[in-house]
Amino acid sequence: MNEKIYDVLIIGGGPAGYSAALYCTRAGFDTLVLEKLSAGGQMALTMQIDNYPGFEDGIDGFSLAEKMKKGAERFGAQTRLSEVLSVSLDGPVKTVETAEGIFKGRTVIIAAGAVPRELGVPGEKELLGKGVGYCATCDGMFYRDKTVLVIGGGNTAAADALTLSRICKKVILVHRREELRATKIYHRQLEETENISFCWNSTVSEFLYDKKLTGAKIHNIISGDDSVVEADGAFISIGRKPASELFHGMIEMDPAGYIVADESTRTNIPGVFAVGDIRTKAMRQVVTAVSDGATASHYVEEYLAGMNDAE
Ligand code: NAP
Repeated sequence: MNEKIYDVLIIGGGPAGYSAALYCTRAGFDTLVLEKLSAGGQMALTMQIDNYPGFEDGIDGFSLAEKMKKGAERFGAQTRLSEVLSVSLDGPVKTVETAEGIFKGRTVIIAAGAVPRELGVPGEKELLGKGVGYCATCDGMFYRDKTVLVIGGGNTAAADALTLSRICKKVILVHRREELRATKIYHRQLEETENISFCWNSTVSEFLYDKKLTGAKIHNIISGDDSVVEADGAFISIGRKPASELFHGMIEMDPAGYIVADESTRTNIPGVFAVGDIRTKAMRQVVTAVSDGATASHYVEEYLAGMNDAE
């Protein structure tokens, strides 16, 4: 057991976590970031980020993550690379158990983000990395001049289809309805891209393979027909789910598992804050994640001041 009590424990080293770390250390708080793998979270898997201000040519997610981490460390934030196994959030001192030991903090900022949603069809798990993937910008290069499926109809699927159209011979977008959920700006671009075709009102019922993916069984939900579409790769782009399993039953969540917190980032537990993609919010972007981190520091300061007054 580590006897030190940090002012702030931050769970997750993505943009929200390191923004919170930067602001909290600059406010003079002893701050530790607990991160499972490496800085950046999902952002680190993004090849090109063009909608984060300040980078006129855009920047890749991995580099931006490193910059955010170093920026926070410049003011004294510490990082421990260790998976969080359990938490105890009630009371004035919270504990976080990791593979490296137990850490204590007066406040906890949850910045664990969200992970890709799975389709849950036969073949999906078996083919992970052998034809099925969740990150077109990471793995698209493996399918140069090949045929790929993109499953989904939101902004991620639309962006993925456009990215892949520049690399692959053919992109087939499979969507369960007959219109996209994606913002209008994408619609014309997709329709005007010659090597993108659409499979509307359709779902993938199974991925087909011998040693690697060969195609997918497609079910048309209007006609009820099943058909086989041949493909070398398939990208599942149906949204993300919050990485909130650790906190189930101890903190208020919405039905989808996002931690309920308004713009203040305060949760229903005193001294516990939720920032970035794991929080209930309208728009999950890097820029909104870093904004949450800054806001959380303000309410951490308010909470810790209240604690000191009470002592
Ligand atoms: P999303 O907006 O929730 O869209 C998910 C899509 O997947 C929907 O079209 C949905 O179909 C479909 N879907 C969900 N579950 C499915 C299932 N089991 N089987 C088949 N299809 C399924 O998720 P997202 O596209 O990942 O976007 C997430 C957030 O990031 C959004 O706020 C988005 O605006 C933002 N984002 C923005 C950009 C950008 O360019 N600005 C890029 C990427 C993401 P239905 O439409 O039928 O529900």
